[in-house]
Amino acid sequence: MAERVCPSCGRPGPVELEMKVASGVTLTMLSCSRCDRRSWLADGAPIAMDDVFKITAGDPDFTVTPSVKAQRRAGKRLS
Ligand SMILES: [Zn+2]
Repeated sequence: MAERVCPSCGRPGPVELEMKVASGVTLTMLSCSRCDRRSWLADGAPIAMDDVFKITAGDPDFTVTPSVKAQRRAGKRLS
C-alpha cells in the first residue's frame, strides 16, 4: 500500500481511518497533525465534507465521530 500524504500540506503519513458505509462506499479520513486538517476520500477519491454527509445520510448506523478532539471542532468548516 502506497503511503498517503496530506492533501492540504503534503505531509506524509497522516492518521488514516477507513470505514465502509451501507452503500458500499469506502470512506477514508486523513487527519494531519501538521496543518490540523481532516480530509476525506471516497473509494480513494478526494471528496468534500458535504459529500461525506451525503454519502453517510442513508446509513443510520454511521456517525462521523473519529475522535473527541474532532468532535469539538465539528462546527469548524473545512472549506
Ligand atoms: Zn497537512
